[in-house]
Amino acid sequence: MPILPSYSCSGGEQSVFRETKLLMGTVVEIAVVGQSGERSRDAIREALEEIARVDELVSTFKQGSVVSRLNREGAIGKVSVGKEVFFLIRAAAAISEASGGAFDITVGPIVKLWGFESGGARPSEVILGKVLPLVGYRNLNYDENSYAVGFKTSGMQIDLGAMAAGWAADLAIEKLKARGITAAIVDAGGELRVIGSKPGGIPWRIGVQDPRSPGELLMTFDLGDTAVATSGDYERFFMDGGVRYHHILDPATGMPARGCRSVTVLAPTAAEADACSTAAFVLGPERGIAFLRSRPGVRGFIVDEDGDLHWTDEALERMARR
Ligand code: ADP
Ligand code: MG
Repeated sequence: MPILPSYSCSGGEQSVFRETKLLMGTVVEIAVVGQSGERSRDAIREALEEIARVDELVSTFKQGSVVSRLNREGAIGKVSVGKEVFFLIRAAAAISEASGGAFDITVGPIVKLWGFESGGARPSEVILGKVLPLVGYRNLNYDENSYAVGFKTSGMQIDLGAMAAGWAADLAIEKLKARGITAAIVDAGGELRVIGSKPGGIPWRIGVQDPRSPGELLMTFDLGDTAVATSGDYERFFMDGGVRYHHILDPATGMPARGCRSVTVLAPTAAEADACSTAAFVLGPERGIAFLRSRPGVRGFIVDEDGDLHWTDEALERMARR
């Protein structure tokens, strides 16, 4: 996973309590600062339960999830998805609009076609050509009164994989806050949200993985209240004839997006950081940076296909430690 938080565990009466769990097909790690181990661990447990609940809503692998039901029935008629998933889908569609369609949660059919979850293989051009017209966020129908969503075309499928982990991190942080926690980090497989600081006011330090040396850090950042997400071509990919085929797809072509190795985004919420890192990845280094700059409170950097860095702003570049 691209972001590896590192913590130290000392400072006055306060300690850092941490737990790790496999959820949403990734490693979720939560660390909270507190005086009482029992209260801290209760809060962590509740936050982990919240992430499990999110997975039950948005997973495309769980047949009983709200998203799976929408994908089965959305072309027959509008499906009531509940208020929070409804507004998540609306937020995703707004990012589609802002990114000129680079980000598009209706990529479901082409995500399935490539099958990166089970190793992956190049689809034939004929099949890709048949499936590609099913992709298009403009073909989603909404009914705001019943929080229902439908598909204009039969065969459409949504996939919230580019945003779900970030959204889960945000909701987990809300649970922690409701428990009175003021300093914590929730890392949902590299999509993370930070509040407060470590004991003694020491900032949380997060590391960004080197896209071509897994396990090595490209740089670290000391962060206050913010969210960070990274999209990379090294997360899920296969090689064929010396070409890297990875899981971030260009909705215009149905092919893996070219031009970037990784995109790291800082934003006020992890859902926004997560979606924007995927969008900028698809847009490529130049248009990706312009897109990130266009969004209030959003900043980041791109490692392009030659390994060169592109930044939204110099202040962020100065914050990075290498
Ligand atoms: P990671 O899973 O490494 O955190 P991302 O956040 O970029 O990476 O999400 C990639 C996932 O998003 C893919 O596995 C797929 O489910 C979905 N996806 C792929 N391409 C797009 C796209 N152009 N727009 C929206 N979602 C996408
Ligand atoms: Mg993402």
